[in-house]
Amino acid sequence: MNYEQFLHKINNKNKKIFLVDMRKEENYHFSELVQEWIRKYTKQNKNITIIVNKKWYASGVICRDCGHIPQCKNCSVSISYHNDQQGHPFGLCHICKTHYDIPPKCPKCQSNSIRPYGLWIQQVADRIQQTYNIIPDIIDTQTVNSPNKIKKHKQQKHSNITIGTSLLTTPIKNYKTDIVIFLNADLGLNIPDYTAASKNFFFLYETIQQYKDAHFIVQSFDPEHYSIRSACKMNKEAFQREDEVYRKQYNYPPYSDLCVLLYKHETEERVYANVDKLHKELLYYKEKYTLDDMEIYTTPPLIYKKFGKYRYNIIIKGKQIKNFMDIIYTKCKLHNRWFKVDRQADSVI
Ligand SMILES: [Zn+2]
Ligand SMILES: [Zn+2]
Repeated sequence: MNYEQFLHKINNKNKKIFLVDMRKEENYHFSELVQEWIRKYTKQNKNITIIVNKKWYASGVICRDCGHIPQCKNCSVSISYHNDQQGHPFGLCHICKTHYDIPPKCPKCQSNSIRPYGLWIQQVADRIQQTYNIIPDIIDTQTVNSPNKIKKHKQQKHSNITIGTSLLTTPIKNYKTDIVIFLNADLGLNIPDYTAASKNFFFLYETIQQYKDAHFIVQSFDPEHYSIRSACKMNKEAFQREDEVYRKQYNYPPYSDLCVLLYKHETEERVYANVDKLHKELLYYKEKYTLDDMEIYTTPPLIYKKFGKYRYNIIIKGKQIKNFMDIIYTKCKLHNRWFKVDRQADSVI
C-alpha cells in the first residue's frame, strides 16, 4: 500500500485522511487511491473537490529541445502560461503583469517543441475529462475571485468534480463536498524560507478543519515531513514542537532577531557595490564589538529582479540586534544609503 490512513474525530463523525506517498506511484499527478475514489464517488453521484497548490513561479513554458525557459524582460521569473476566455494561450508575468505572446518556436534554438511545464489546472481538468468523461468546474482567480462569485458560479454549474486553487481552502457555501483531494501537498515546502513549513502546515490543517463532512486525500512526495504528517494527524502541538526544534537549531525567530536590509536598483553593478560596501562595514562593527554569535551575510531574494530592478539582501541574525542596529544607523549613516530596512523581518525572502 502506498498510503497511510488517519482518523480525525469531529462531532462524533470520523473524517478519514489518507496520506499517499507519491514517490511510489506510477502516475505523477493521480495516485491509484485518487483514481479509485474518483471512480467510486462519481458513480455514487458524490462531490469531489480537487485543490491544486499552484505556485506561479513553479510553472512556465520550456523548450523541450534546449531547455530554454522564456523570462519576463522586467523580472527574474518565468512567463506563465494561461488561456484567455476564448481558449487562446498567452503568457503573463505575475509580478509586473506584462502580457506576452507564446512563441510558436523556441527563440533560442528555433525548435517547435515549446510546451508548458508545471501543474496546470487546465491540464488536470483535461485529464479528468479524458479518463472519466466528466467536465469539471474550474475555480481560479481568472474565473472567480470572491466567495460570493464562487457560490454563484457553482449554482450555475453542476459537475461532481470541482478543481481549484487555494481559493477552495474555504468550502463553498451551500455546496456539500464529500472528498477533498490535495494533488500536491508539499509544493509550499520548496520555498527557501524558514516559514515555509509553517505556511504549508496551516494550509493543510485549516482546510481539513473547515470541510466538516468530507474525507481527504493528501498526495505528497515528502510524506515524512513534519508539516505534512502533523497536518494529516491534525496535531497542531506536534507540528509546533518540531518547528520550534528547527527554528532553535538554525537560530530563527523567536530564538533570535532577524533584520533584512534590501537594496534595489536598475544597475546590477551598483547593487553589488553598495551591498558589498555596507556588508563589510557591518562585519567590521560586529568584530569591533565582539558580537560573535551574530550572523551577517548577503543573499539574493527569491525573486532577484522585479519591475526592472535588481535586488539583494543583507541578513542580520542574532540575539540582541536592536542595540547593534541603533549603533549602525548612526555609524553607517543608514538613513541616506537607500536600503530598505526591516528590523523585525518575518521572512528572509
Ligand atoms: Zn515582469
Ligand atoms: Zn530551444
